Amino acid sequence: MENLKSKKLIGYYGFPERSVLRSVRERFGSDLEFIDLDVARGAPDSMVIQSTTCRIIANIVDNAMELSKRLTAIVADVGEGKCDRGRYAAFLLRKTGFNVIESRFPPEQFEKRPLVYSTAEGSLAERVDRIMQTVIQSPSSVNQTRACEPTHGFWGVPPHDFRILDIFPPTTHIYGWTRCVEAGSPGDLEMECYVDENVPTVFFTQSFCAKQDLAHHLAEKYDGLFVDCHRDVNNSILSKVEAFIKLSYPSR
Ligand code: SF4
Repeated sequence: MENLKSKKLIGYYGFPERSVLRSVRERFGSDLEFIDLDVARGAPDSMVIQSTTCRIIANIVDNAMELSKRLTAIVADVGEGKCDRGRYAAFLLRKTGFNVIESRFPPEQFEKRPLVYSTAEGSLAERVDRIMQTVIQSPSSVNQTRACEPTHGFWGVPPHDFRILDIFPPTTHIYGWTRCVEAGSPGDLEMECYVDENVPTVFFTQSFCAKQDLAHHLAEKYDGLFVDCHRDVNNSILSKVEAFIKLSYPSR
């Protein structure tokens, strides 16, 4: 795993409450680096999770097992902003011996932050990554970007395999859970279901995720493309998304 061999770290997943992150910093020291366990980091299969679990949950558990004693604590988002699987993963990790600090981001703490990266022009993968960095960085550290009119939409969570994002044009707006993260409102179901009508949108989920129900419903409603993917994206998924994007370019 990347350059983390000897450092002590705080793991986290989902979008923990700011107050919980603050108190964890105070308790364990502000010099400890935070690491997002949701992200694919090349950790070997820990065999703790069955193969038909969502790949993001498998990443969380595999990363935690790989980092093991270097993790001083894990801040686990177990609220409605994540999913039941996040809650169960917290339970399993605690049983395995990790110091797990649970967080539920309640609606009273929704921040309603302005959307910058979701509506900006630029690499979709980079913007999704920047949005996820705002979970642990202050909103004031957001870089300047230029807003654009959307030609396409990407709805969903940050995928396990970011290569699917590289197919989208820079004029793609971001919707769904990732947009809620930028707004500081994880678990805001109304915002999660919002898309701009008439913007051709790909509704993406990891396989075995409950958000498939939402994605399917929204794709039907807005005439979009519903795709799910378990581990790495394959050529068939990439071709399907590529064809949808090409065929749905607005006429100029
Ligand atoms: S992709 Fe779905 S099932 Fe997996 S962690 Fe995210 S919300 Fe939970």
